[in-house]
Amino acid sequence: MKHYNCKEELKLIIKDYPFLCKICKKEKALIEIPSQKIKVCKNCYNNFFENRIKKTIEKYKMIKPQDKVGVFLSGGKDSSTLLFVLKKLYPDINLQAIFINLGIRYYSDKLEDLVKNFCKNLEVPLFIYNLPEKEGYRIDDFIFTYFKDKVCSACGAIKRYLFSKIAKELELNVIATGHHLDDTISVMLNLFFQGDFLGIAKLQPSLPPLFPNQVKKIKPLYTTPEKEILYYAILNEIPFENFKCPHANVTPSKKIKELLTKLEDENRQIKYQLLSVFTKKLIPLIKSNYKEEVLSLCIKCGEITSSQDKICSRCKRIELLEKIDNKTLELTKEEFEDYIKNLNSNWVLIDLKNRENLLNESTKKLKRFFKSYRDKHIFLTASEPEIGYLFTLKLRKLNFKAYNIKTV
Ligand SMILES: [Zn+2]
Ligand SMILES: [Zn+2]
Repeated sequence: MKHYNCKEELKLIIKDYPFLCKICKKEKALIEIPSQKIKVCKNCYNNFFENRIKKTIEKYKMIKPQDKVGVFLSGGKDSSTLLFVLKKLYPDINLQAIFINLGIRYYSDKLEDLVKNFCKNLEVPLFIYNLPEKEGYRIDDFIFTYFKDKVCSACGAIKRYLFSKIAKELELNVIATGHHLDDTISVMLNLFFQGDFLGIAKLQPSLPPLFPNQVKKIKPLYTTPEKEILYYAILNEIPFENFKCPHANVTPSKKIKELLTKLEDENRQIKYQLLSVFTKKLIPLIKSNYKEEVLSLCIKCGEITSSQDKICSRCKRIELLEKIDNKTLELTKEEFEDYIKNLNSNWVLIDLKNRENLLNESTKKLKRFFKSYRDKHIFLTASEPEIGYLFTLKLRKLNFKAYNIKTV
């Protein structure tokens, strides 16, 4: 897994401008504030960035001094930057970092190490919840269900449930999430295109508890553009992963994000204009025309749900996992030799060495290559087990019976 090498990235965003910082006019300018198109010094960049977050927190009365505030870290730049800034702006509040190890092979454990180091250096207590150990399944297992192409959506429902469960366990009052301006706008537009107006009305910077036993959810980065978070993280050497989750796919929201970036070239205020139209015009209109959703408690897990059958989306997804009797995706050499005894000759062993570039090729090419093994169990070895595993997941999504053999 590649991590952002801050030293390398720094060279890319930091320039040797031949003039002084446009804000303090004392230090040399070395970085541009993307949304403002002005070049400033490091100190002024940080002040500008942190002040906007502070203003958002104060405007929406997000945090009270006695609150216990939880930040769920994903290992990505947004949640880590959020924790870093909260600690800097409010050194005296009760901060709690949380990491959920989702059991995604060759991914989750590395993120856990990264997050552990980060919290240790930042001196923020970290709570780790290991999903496979605690609940007996991995997010990878959804590859055996009809969620195989949209594992992210299954994962989202599981995480929402865990956020709420862990918040109660740790007696948090507030959960702060790293949703930023680009997230908010792209999700709003996506919901708009789907006609899900009630969903839009729920996208607020501060969401009070919906039920007595729930926590408040806040988004302190609500008005911060994504690019500015990236720059801040690199500038302040905040460690974050630069390795895509193997289950990540292109969602409509991601496509809208790309579109917005293009529009921004012509109008750099476009995101703020859209945010303002949504929050000041559309959301009040929606609220005055729609009835609130009827919420009840899930009969299986006790968390809130708007589902009529009173079974929440997390529990419905768990039911799918319970129906799978064989969740094998990866075997050691010994396990493999044992496994094939029951398969007669209906299997094939493929060495991927020299063919690993297929991973970056189109789905069509991948399908064509494996076509003749369609009905067989396909066992894969690669130069690194991680690569074999990525092939396994890709092939499973295409309905091949693939397995990775751990050679190292
Ligand atoms: Zn300055
Ligand atoms: Zn449930």
